[in-house]
Amino acid sequence: MAHRMVFDVFAFLLGLCVGSFANVVAYRAPKGLSIVKPRSYCPHCRQQIRWYDNLPVLSYLLLGGRCRYCRNRISFRYPLFELLMGVLFLLLALRHGFSPQFIPGALFLTGMVLVVRTDLEHWLILDEVSVGGAFAGVGLSLLPGGVSPVSSLVAAGGAFLIFYLIRKVSLSFVRGRPGYVVPPEGYEEESESFQSGMGWGDVKLAAMIGAFLGVTASAMAFFSAFLLGSVVGVLLILLRGRSRRVPLPFGPFMAAGGALGWFYGSRLWTAYTDLATSVLG
Ligand SMILES: [Zn+2]
Repeated sequence: MAHRMVFDVFAFLLGLCVGSFANVVAYRAPKGLSIVKPRSYCPHCRQQIRWYDNLPVLSYLLLGGRCRYCRNRISFRYPLFELLMGVLFLLLALRHGFSPQFIPGALFLTGMVLVVRTDLEHWLILDEVSVGGAFAGVGLSLLPGGVSPVSSLVAAGGAFLIFYLIRKVSLSFVRGRPGYVVPPEGYEEESESFQSGMGWGDVKLAAMIGAFLGVTASAMAFFSAFLLGSVVGVLLILLRGRSRRVPLPFGPFMAAGGALGWFYGSRLWTAYTDLATSVLG
């Protein structure tokens, strides 16, 4: 029991640190900067951040959310995402304990958090996360206690094909309707990706989610993603008068669906099949 608690605390702290590293990746990788060099610096005054000012969450609180040198505000996103990763890793520890499944879970959820960050801020899903993650997911299915390699491969390939077809069909549907969706500022050249509401990044991400979750849980993840996306999309139109022509990144919904799928995929699947049988029979 005591061992169990030690691992829970360790997982939470590990999550905070991974969240801190994910912050660096989300800030630097979309700009093509190295994620290891130079050491962390303040984006305002470029002053290098000392290790004691770089502790996850804690330093932000101690510094009152400001840079020690130039007193400019530090984005609240940094401690927020560190805390989110800490909580996600703690949930993983509570679910799996000190077992092999903690490893794919940690990698998968780190990938999902990176998707949220980069897609919201840069309309981008890193290939290292989606393509790299798809291969990692298939490889890690060899670990005991999780999805089978067959389920992982079938789900990765199947999800890739289905999302590729959705993208192709919706593209041909909107083609020839000028100015249907206005791409966000700075992304005018990639206009076509915004027309389908689904970029290549989403197609590759679907394969990654399939690889980690297997057939049934990834089906529930994608179902949740489309459901969440529609609900939020409609709410934004109703509440903010947001135009249908303004695109919404789909990656964060897939990431949320993926995380739901990891923790509740099999339970959702059982609930769904029970419902189907009670309706049909
Ligand atoms: Zn500064």
